[in-house]
Amino acid sequence: MPVQNADKKNIMLIETHVQVADIPEEGLFLNFEELAGLIGDLDEFSSVSHASGRLELHKSGAEVQISGWVRGKMNLSCDRCLASFAFPVDASFFYLLKPSKEFHREIEPDHEVTGDEIHVYWYEDGLIRAEELFREQILLQLPMRVLCREDCRGLCAGCGADLNREECRCQEVVNHGPFSALAGLKTIQN
Ligand SMILES: [Zn+2]
Ligand SMILES: [Zn+2]
Repeated sequence: MPVQNADKKNIMLIETHVQVADIPEEGLFLNFEELAGLIGDLDEFSSVSHASGRLELHKSGAEVQISGWVRGKMNLSCDRCLASFAFPVDASFFYLLKPSKEFHREIEPDHEVTGDEIHVYWYEDGLIRAEELFREQILLQLPMRVLCREDCRGLCAGCGADLNREECRCQEVVNHGPFSALAGLKTIQN
């Protein structure tokens, strides 16, 4: 079955759990399409769409080295104007995973990120949950302050106008003076 042989190192996966025991000597190379469905919504203000990724896993004793990338789009809501917009994600990463027992003995119990952005983590029950690595990498890409654009003018606190698209109406009301409301009322009654 030549096709199967050719695809051996580039298996398309829906399932994202990798058994450490299944990683062969020469490494395991996995491509992921449609990660959005696997990762789900990250929080109420963002979701992932059209994300794909790749993992290259190499075993060295009980440790697993993983390099990979994730690319896609996040749907975010602007902190200032609340408009939703697409935010591109493109991250390359490197993980060193140790079995949980060894990890907790050697290193601080918390997830440690070294200066070189190598993420040292642990795995449990001989299982690597790929979607968690992708999810973390996507979250790391989230800006501290989510803005649809650098100079977003936001919503007016007074009238609620989207100042990117329309004029603030607060000043109008003041200019028309105390009778403007009455004038408006009349029009409506007619
Ligand atoms: Zn905005
Ligand atoms: Zn206003």
